[in-house]
Amino acid sequence: MNVPRPAISDVSDAELTAWLAAHGEPAYRRKQIRRHATHTCAAGWSELTDLPNGLRDALASSFRWSSVEPVIEQASADGETRKVLLQLHDGHRIETVLMPHHGARNSVCLSTQAGCPMACAFCATGEMGLIRNLMPGEIVDQVRHWQRELAARGERVSHVVYMGMGEPFNNYDATIASARELVAANGFGISPRRLTISTCGVVPKIDALAGEGLPINLAVSLHAADDRTRGAIMPINRKWGIDEVLAASARYVARTKRRVTFEYVLLAGVNDSADAARELANRIARAGRPGDYHVNLIPVNAGPGGFKRPPIETMERFAEILSERGIAATVRISKGQDIAAGCGQLKVDERAGATLAKV
Ligand code: SF4
Repeated sequence: MNVPRPAISDVSDAELTAWLAAHGEPAYRRKQIRRHATHTCAAGWSELTDLPNGLRDALASSFRWSSVEPVIEQASADGETRKVLLQLHDGHRIETVLMPHHGARNSVCLSTQAGCPMACAFCATGEMGLIRNLMPGEIVDQVRHWQRELAARGERVSHVVYMGMGEPFNNYDATIASARELVAANGFGISPRRLTISTCGVVPKIDALAGEGLPINLAVSLHAADDRTRGAIMPINRKWGIDEVLAASARYVARTKRRVTFEYVLLAGVNDSADAARELANRIARAGRPGDYHVNLIPVNAGPGGFKRPPIETMERFAEILSERGIAATVRISKGQDIAAGCGQLKVDERAGATLAKV
């Protein structure tokens, strides 16, 4: 198999410094190169015109400028959300989403795996199964893709959520390495408080993240208030049930002094009753202090399983019941559903080489 040149995003500072020394280049070039990679709209080595020609050529023959190549980009009718299909060096494909918000923020939703093995019943990515884990550079380069576009109009990626294709904690080391690069002052410099990693409840890795010393946000997908319902829509519940996930979340709060967000996709007639809301509130309160948590209620998007959204009054009542018990709750409608860019909708059609628009 042909081993490709490493992408510059997979080359450490120490490796780049050593490479520069071996090529008779001054060490300060490293900062110049990193600056272009993370802050400018340069689309390739040839555009780094403040570097000598010979250096640019040598860099191009040693390193790929990016580990992801855009294939198809789609824009939502909402005028803001965009999704891109990216090709990796081995031909596999992933998707990533840019969600600008009225000029105030530019959030990127990242993928950490091509496909996902977790098989959540409402999720298009879960239907694909796992193809492979992404390298740290392949995760970071999704941000670079959007950063280059934003830099062209003087904007920056401000927020990052690890909520795209894949379970981040099944690719833990690469996920953490990419997060460190995104928040590094000499990297992208994104505030750690604007970076959120979302897990479907891989308990040992929730504990591991608590020990990383990374002041980022953790979101944990619950999606049900009882184990029978959660087990039916999330196979991971057979391994770690709700109480274990809540206990790990409480340990995370205790160790990091940071709030945890619980994600809860609302499926009509499945997990949206007032009794489910009360049960959810009771279980959260038994595991920890209600004020330490926030619940994001997400009306299900069109996708596998044929699930339907509850009426708005049902969703609001669910949120009210949680709020009455001291648990902050928000109904959050994801954007970009017309281009299948909403929560649970990311999927790649490998045969056609196009995204499936499941609206
Ligand atoms: S919801 Fe997340 S963890 Fe579940 S199948 Fe989809 S991508 Fe995987």
